[in-house]
Amino acid sequence: MKVPLLDLKPQYHSLKKEIDEAIANVIESQYFILGPEVDKMEQAFTKYLNCKYAYGVSSGTDALLLALMAIGIKPGDEVIVPTYSFFATAGVVSRLNATPVFVDCDPVTFNILPSALKSKITPKTKAIIPVHLYGQSAAMDEIIEIAKNANLKVIEDGAQAIGVQYKDGRHVGAIGDIGCFSFFPSKNLGCFGDGGLVTTNDDELAGRLKIMRVHGGHPKYYHKVIGGNFRIDALQAAVISVKLPHLDSWSEKRRENAELYTKLFTQAKLAQTDGVASFDDNNKVLLPKPVYKSDKIKNYHIFNQYIIRVEKRDELRKFLAENEIASEIYYPVPFHLQECFANLGYKKGDFPNSEFAANTSIALPIYPELTKEQITFIVETISKFLK
Ligand SMILES: *Cc1c(COP(=O)(O)O)cnc(C)c1O
Repeated sequence: MKVPLLDLKPQYHSLKKEIDEAIANVIESQYFILGPEVDKMEQAFTKYLNCKYAYGVSSGTDALLLALMAIGIKPGDEVIVPTYSFFATAGVVSRLNATPVFVDCDPVTFNILPSALKSKITPKTKAIIPVHLYGQSAAMDEIIEIAKNANLKVIEDGAQAIGVQYKDGRHVGAIGDIGCFSFFPSKNLGCFGDGGLVTTNDDELAGRLKIMRVHGGHPKYYHKVIGGNFRIDALQAAVISVKLPHLDSWSEKRRENAELYTKLFTQAKLAQTDGVASFDDNNKVLLPKPVYKSDKIKNYHIFNQYIIRVEKRDELRKFLAENEIASEIYYPVPFHLQECFANLGYKKGDFPNSEFAANTSIALPIYPELTKEQITFIVETISKFLK
């Protein structure tokens, strides 16, 4: 049985008529950059995320870069980021000639460890970028408290977490000072190219984000600040507007798939429960745990990725490939061990939880249209390998 890591075709075919029509309308209008389609999408997001402002931008990476520019990050400033994330989270800090300061992750959620954060704050620290990795919220209450006490801005990297709710139902991206999202095709809400979104509840930051999205001119051609071309195009916005009403039902299917994995792994006696942080004879597979699961919120986890950990990860990946099951390694090298950050002076062993995750984690297929039979086959294949 062939199982791809992600198959975007069934989703497109289920909405083909509406999407094709929306694209044709944009082409007919010949209005391609920002404009009414983008306005419409932005309004839908302020409602969906329950935030005051939402602006479409050119990508998730540009959302982060624009956010850092809007809060005034300058050369020499320090910005605290988790060492275990997608590269963009740290890359954008260095691109502004500021210094990314790395922090270890929680051993269960993979999200930034609030208890390790405080000691990293110096007089140069200006901001923290918590990442809502793999589709569940970082520990925002703890992070916001630390940030408030040290007068730091909080930029949320929600690229993998659009729609995710925290504790009482607040949407990630609307909790910190600025939220950043990506519409890269493989994210839970993907467009047909690159795209992203920034969100805020702060009037002044909103003004800066909006102006800096278009080179910083206000009025046009009069520049008090330097921005860039961070615009989303109308074709991408039109696609997102068709898809957004379906996001929650896709996330629900991902959760159901995750629950089935967890049930099958425990039934196969490869794991006793979810959220175990180290291997033993009863836990040869470590399962992800939705730590904010409660009856109060629906989107406590949206499983952008379903990440398990196993000791012989690379061998398992090879075995899965031989059985036509696709998988991926997120992320094999944490930032503190990346060659491009060698000048920052970190070394192996500095962040044990992140290194453990980088060495043992493997992403299994989790997309909404995955069948029960496919998931069962994947767990059976992993069972075969481990027994
Ligand atoms: C995908 C991703 C980004 C970057 O988004 P793009 O739209 O690809 O630029 C940033 N941060 C995280 C955590 C991501 O997963």
